[in-house]
Amino acid sequence: MSTVQPIRVTVWGEFRHEKNNPKVAAIYPQGMHQTIADALGRCAGFSVRTATLDEPEHGLSDAVLDQTDVLTWWGHLAHDEVADAVVAKVRRRVLEGMGLIVLHSAHYSKIFLSLMGDTCSLSWREASDKERLWVVCPSHPIVRGLGPFIELPTEEMYGEPFGIPTPDELIFISWFTGGEVFRSGATWRRGNGRIFYFRPGHETYPTYHHPEIQQVIANAVAWAHSGLRIKDDAPNVSPQKP
Ligand code: ZN
Repeated sequence: MSTVQPIRVTVWGEFRHEKNNPKVAAIYPQGMHQTIADALGRCAGFSVRTATLDEPEHGLSDAVLDQTDVLTWWGHLAHDEVADAVVAKVRRRVLEGMGLIVLHSAHYSKIFLSLMGDTCSLSWREASDKERLWVVCPSHPIVRGLGPFIELPTEEMYGEPFGIPTPDELIFISWFTGGEVFRSGATWRRGNGRIFYFRPGHETYPTYHHPEIQQVIANAVAWAHSGLRIKDDAPNVSPQKP
């Protein structure tokens, strides 16, 4: 009998483009978050739920966060509608040890900005460039099972300079047909939490149906799971016996 507990994943989606744009709805009829959740749900060892912006507390109540080991985050149109109180709660959970996977346009999400302490700005172009994501850290668990690169036939371009603090680990560098490059997969630790930013995933392309993109997100969830939840504290302590 196995006593290994599944990794509890909450896939958070803004879920607005899918309601407003028929082109996006045709690619993701149940929403991008559901496509990501379905892919993770097919992996052994994950227990997956979803949460979206328009639910009460954006679907991120204390009860849900208490049962979340790793949170994935996709947002774009409505970063400002995410309540500061929810962002503060998520940030505290990350510092306690919850993993966070930040996807595509969530580079400008309140939670990523607050954890990075930087501009998180970049250049962009929506012109169906080809993207090649080169693996630059082949021994890393996030790229397990991949070849030297992932190729996406059409994606939005994101270009440097990317306004992030120097990553702890750089996992992917993207090249685009326009000649730009971008640090498209990177990790940081904040407190006891592990954070992975992963660039691809523009809403008008079927990126989250791509098996290798799904593989990276699954690998990243497993990597970001620390199993820790350490409450922040600054105790006044007595000396130890010498
Ligand atoms: Zn985009």
